[in-house]
Amino acid sequence: MTAAPMPTWNTFARRYETLATEPLEVSDIPAWLTRWSDLEKDVMEVSAQLMRAKDADPTDQAAEQAFMQFVQAVQPEVRRAGQRLKDRLLAQTGWVPQAEHQQMLRRLQNEAALYREENLALLSELTTLANDFNKITGALRAQVNGEELTLPQAQRLLLGEDRAQRDAAWRGIAQANLQVAPQLDALFLKLLSLRRQVAGNAGFETYRDYAWRALNRFDYTPADTQELHRAIEEEVVPLQARLNDERRQQLGLETLRPWDTQADPLGRPALQPFSSTEEYLDIGARMFAQLDPDLGAQFTAMRAGSYLDLEPRPEKVPGYGYCNFLPRTVSPYIYWSAVGSDIDVRVLMHEAGHAFHFLASGQPEDLVWNLMAPIEFAEVASQAMELLTLPLLEKPLGYYASEDAARARHDKIETVLRQFTSQATGDAFQQWLYSEAPEDVTAEQIDARWLADSARFGVGVDWQGLEDVRAKGWQFIHIFAIPLYLIEYSLAWIGALQVWQSAQQNPEAALQQYKAALALGNTRPLPELFQAAGARFAFDGETLGTLMALLAEQVGQPGGSD
Ligand SMILES: [Zn+2]
Repeated sequence: MTAAPMPTWNTFARRYETLATEPLEVSDIPAWLTRWSDLEKDVMEVSAQLMRAKDADPTDQAAEQAFMQFVQAVQPEVRRAGQRLKDRLLAQTGWVPQAEHQQMLRRLQNEAALYREENLALLSELTTLANDFNKITGALRAQVNGEELTLPQAQRLLLGEDRAQRDAAWRGIAQANLQVAPQLDALFLKLLSLRRQVAGNAGFETYRDYAWRALNRFDYTPADTQELHRAIEEEVVPLQARLNDERRQQLGLETLRPWDTQADPLGRPALQPFSSTEEYLDIGARMFAQLDPDLGAQFTAMRAGSYLDLEPRPEKVPGYGYCNFLPRTVSPYIYWSAVGSDIDVRVLMHEAGHAFHFLASGQPEDLVWNLMAPIEFAEVASQAMELLTLPLLEKPLGYYASEDAARARHDKIETVLRQFTSQATGDAFQQWLYSEAPEDVTAEQIDARWLADSARFGVGVDWQGLEDVRAKGWQFIHIFAIPLYLIEYSLAWIGALQVWQSAQQNPEAALQQYKAALALGNTRPLPELFQAAGARFAFDGETLGTLMALLAEQVGQPGGSD
């Protein structure tokens, strides 16, 4: 049997060359853009198919090699050729773009303005160094009651009923992390210094200001996010403190310790939403169909076309999931290993939200640059889908008996609150690092700042005697690999929660607005995308306060257990 020929750079080179060299009048630009977009879609399709094949069976060496060959040999050429076309487009002075091209142009102009030849080597060094984080932490093992466990194994114990075992597991993880902390300190200081150099080369006073532009944050400023930090402190922290206190009382404890925050406070066994992948998908399909016939039909088509790879085959990577898009086939696909937990339910709803967004913005007539939206809104699509399906969780339609559905909703709300406070901590800390920290900042100063930010946004957990562990809480992957990229998720929650808030009043209208906003793809600035979804792109305490009141109502009144 002969395998399909492996796509090489030659598969695409001639078409890029033609687009770069053929005569181009202003009046030709719309058709030229469509051809360029089609070409990029062909590249994306190949890349996504190769990735799909590789992840479907991680033990398939040939699939792995084909994917890596594409990443290493074809994609750099594609980027170089794409840059040539971007430059060509930006040089077209007489061209007045239509509304659907304006955001794309704004992004291209921004990228071109930040481009510095001398930063190329630094940026690739940064990527390599950030990878060292995984090398340093990947092999860590936790000693728990004389047993050596991987960190994910030890983390699972934190969900259990046995408090002594949770305590041991938590301390085992903490000890493992502390062992490599000095190595990570040194690595981070190196990254920080390189990042400052990159910013300086591009003409920015601070790395924060450079990163703001590099992340295409056109529609909000550092001051806006600082307003959001204050709003989270005033509106989210008190509700989280209340839920922590309820948890403490339910567990019958004097104080809540870090190993008490994830276990079920009533000691119940884990939720069991389904017992086979078949059942998982049958119920999911029913819920989407109930929510909206169009979305239900899209989900059913994905399932019929085998675009839902959710079976927990032994060779698949557990805990690894995503939604990707095949722009030529015009279908999204979702990858995940569902083992029968509540997390699986959330993942399905979340990734389906991304899938609906792809379909709404990725039809053959849509330009490739308008797929989805900036991350701040792409996550509104997925997070809102998690929330909009919460009322449908109950049997006979959904996954759970009534009491379990209430528990799943409560868990979801606790997770949202935790995300707000941890993202605010991480963002306040990084803004300080990249705009205020002294030139010769030390690891001790960094730890002290993290402790201050953690104390500001984290309440109700007793860290006494564990300060050395808490001080190193900043040593997680985002801080090393994707600086400042975190607060996007909080901004998206504010949008998603407003969609959900509208749905309390009028579910049909809220859903129609949600769908209309998804259909805009990446063609509008963030405030307009939020507005189309019936939400405000907001940072203020009043908006957040209203949303927290809604969540408080959903989890019941204080002392509601009696
Ligand atoms: Zn997502």
